[in-house]
Amino acid sequence: MKDMLDRFIRYAETDTGSSEESETFPSTPGQMELLSILSEELREMGLSTDFDRKKGYVYAFLPASPGYEELPPLGFISHVDTSPDAPGKDVRPRLIEAYDGNDILLGSDAQGREIVLRVSEFPQIAEFKGKSIIVTDGSTLLGADDKAGVAEIMEAVRLLSGHGDADKTCSGTDRIPHGKVCVAFTPDEELGLGASGFDLERFGAKYAYTVDGGAFPEFEYGNFNAAGIKVLFTGKNIHPGSAKGVMKNALSMAVALDNMLPDGERPEKSEGREGFFHLTDLHGDVSRAVSEYLIRDGDSERFQERKKLFLNACEYINRLYGPGSAHVEMKDTYYNMEPLILEHPHLIEYAKKAFEMTGSEMVSKFIRGGTDGATLSYMGLPCPNLPTGGINFHSVYECACLDDMVRVRDVIINLVKLYAEGKED
Ligand SMILES: [Zn+2]
Repeated sequence: MKDMLDRFIRYAETDTGSSEESETFPSTPGQMELLSILSEELREMGLSTDFDRKKGYVYAFLPASPGYEELPPLGFISHVDTSPDAPGKDVRPRLIEAYDGNDILLGSDAQGREIVLRVSEFPQIAEFKGKSIIVTDGSTLLGADDKAGVAEIMEAVRLLSGHGDADKTCSGTDRIPHGKVCVAFTPDEELGLGASGFDLERFGAKYAYTVDGGAFPEFEYGNFNAAGIKVLFTGKNIHPGSAKGVMKNALSMAVALDNMLPDGERPEKSEGREGFFHLTDLHGDVSRAVSEYLIRDGDSERFQERKKLFLNACEYINRLYGPGSAHVEMKDTYYNMEPLILEHPHLIEYAKKAFEMTGSEMVSKFIRGGTDGATLSYMGLPCPNLPTGGINFHSVYECACLDDMVRVRDVIINLVKLYAEGKED
């Protein structure tokens, strides 16, 4: 476990927070710094590397064992950036061995108030009782999203390539016969851009897994379909004293539209695959108003129905207030990868087996959002998502279970093994 811990801490200490405000890609220089470190370390392990310095992607390859060259190349992908939603500079990870299951004092804020990771607020941490966990000092995120994934892939390929095994828990891993293994580390996933500069041809994998999920043993291969909407309302302003029959209030139109959407179908009232209409912004005045929405749904038919319902509601506003009162811009942002993954059932079957080999039963979980894996799947690389062993992402309460990180590493190794034994093409 020490190898995994040291590696994770080393990566966590580089500030790779991505930035919405940046106009460069990758959005911040720290990401390039970590990508350089990874590229160098992969080279030292004997992998051939292909560092796309222009776009900020590291691709690396472990050649197939003799006689296994014909197998489809298998890929593993993680992102190096961390969320801009919480500070990512001066991350000081702390290991708690044999966690006792109680509240954890992380640190204190500038006013001296204690920052506590409470079991009552984050009941998931109770499941880490007895295991080793990594926490923050309460002032930053941890960056397990997704540096835990990065560390797990790095440790797996290190063992597969035969570069040392200090823990002696995986002796013989380097003798496991395998097809070509492809590794990629990507930038700016948290900005939704991780797949935008991804070069499928350079990567070369036929199937891949992202390692960017939550708690072990969760496995994800379904996600929302998503659209973003902006509605522009045009009203007519006049002194309220003489407004009768003349004034058209753009704000009232926006409120009327929102009231037409089904009240029970909001994020705060839905779960699992259930979708929603989410009002994210509303501003303006009598003459002009703008509202913005997100539409999400796990089911593609219902996703289309939701969009239709929304457009009908805008139509109705135009009938009430006159043509052109509500102008809609609607754009699909991503789609559920599930139908594409189901075309290759081995991606799920092998994952199930790979978890079983670590002594755990895989738990399928639906992603109430999007992932780079979904985008990559639609680009042509089917890409379900493995867990990282971390929870409470994008916050100072983020933590990761070290025991589970080691198990994720083993799941990766098991997948490589299973694909070598199988006959997928
Ligand atoms: Zn992530």
